[in-house]
Amino acid sequence: MAGVSTPTPLALYVHIPFCETKCPYCDFNTYAAIEPLMPAYVDALTHEIAAWGAWLGRPALTSVFFGGGTPSYLSPAHLAKLTEAIGAAFAWPSSIEVTAEANPGDCTPEKLRAMRAAGFNRLSIGVQSFDDAELRLLGRRHSADDARAAVRGARAAGFERVSIDLMLGLPGQPLDAWARSIEEAAALDVDHVSVYALTLEGGTPMEADVGRGALPEPDADLAADMYLLAQERLAAAGFAQYEISNWAKGGMTSGHNLAYWEGRPYLGVGPGAHSHLLGGAGLDALGPHGVRFANLKPPRTYIERVSSWQPSGAVSAAALAAAPAVETAEEISAATAEGETMMMGLRLNEGVSDAAFRERFGAGIAERFPGPVAECLELRLLEWDGGRLRLTEGGRLLGNEAFVRFVAAASEASASAAGA
Ligand code: SF4
Repeated sequence: MAGVSTPTPLALYVHIPFCETKCPYCDFNTYAAIEPLMPAYVDALTHEIAAWGAWLGRPALTSVFFGGGTPSYLSPAHLAKLTEAIGAAFAWPSSIEVTAEANPGDCTPEKLRAMRAAGFNRLSIGVQSFDDAELRLLGRRHSADDARAAVRGARAAGFERVSIDLMLGLPGQPLDAWARSIEEAAALDVDHVSVYALTLEGGTPMEADVGRGALPEPDADLAADMYLLAQERLAAAGFAQYEISNWAKGGMTSGHNLAYWEGRPYLGVGPGAHSHLLGGAGLDALGPHGVRFANLKPPRTYIERVSSWQPSGAVSAAALAAAPAVETAEEISAATAEGETMMMGLRLNEGVSDAAFRERFGAGIAERFPGPVAECLELRLLEWDGGRLRLTEGGRLLGNEAFVRFVAAASEASASAAGA
């Protein structure tokens, strides 16, 4: 194993690929009807966690996030086995945020108490809507009453932090139905709300239904009105928007997701999980902008490949790419890192600090991206605010218009650096 004395702390994502049923709009790497794989999967994941902890020199964790999939679908014993494995493989400060995504239908008092006992202190509940007809359209297994009960149950079980997800822009969803859902969310005993617009992903049953006219095409203008209504109602209820899709009360932002948006290192375990390790203490071979890599997606192949993995030697780009469960790995160039810093950082309401950008990349944002900055200021997508470049209020609805300009400029710079 590498002799690492002070390894860089990182955020840990744990992928749980099981769902009781597959929602018709979902294209995540998740599967229904593979429950017989659960014991072998938990064993393989436990092995992967232990192997990473040893290889990286038992770094400290800044947050843990169990996502999927449906982490709450695992048994209490499996969840406890995984958190124990994490505690053994990594330094786990008691103060960090430990989140599990949960389906409202799984949130029985016993399951919630067991999750709390396993070390989770934050629950992210996939409510999606407080309208039962919309929940049926989305193929969800739960009712609006289940969602209300899940929030109450999470508090009763001692979860200090509770977040809910909602979806807007559903086929045929009227504005007043959305208004009722967002009003109810704003009034609930939760400290965090995520609002996502439905995306019709290629190859999903819902996309096919819209394509053949069985469902109406979602209305983008109406979805924009729904988003503005969410901004207004959540603000009135004391939630501060801190990211394009996220609102928090009392500073209860998602520490784990902030690691992605702020460009901090993270490790993902499980099939299809993504990681980005940065060069630094103990990881000098990775270079300043690090390596991004992703595990292969099929759970069975993942189990076969990872179960006997025994990494050794220095953690380098080549060693990461050769890891048995890793499917893709990319060394990040300075130009790519600059583009990603802008694309991810601009999602945050506070935007990107020019001073921090200059310190990391040796030049200011407008020097590196003169064209995109000038265009986005002209279009009022972006504004300068106290040394930070950020989306304007109106620009938040059109964030992609800004992001694509930075990413295109970064990829041109990356290609010309590679060809130089
Ligand atoms: S529960 Fe979540 S991850 Fe599972 S199929 Fe539905 S949307 Fe996808």
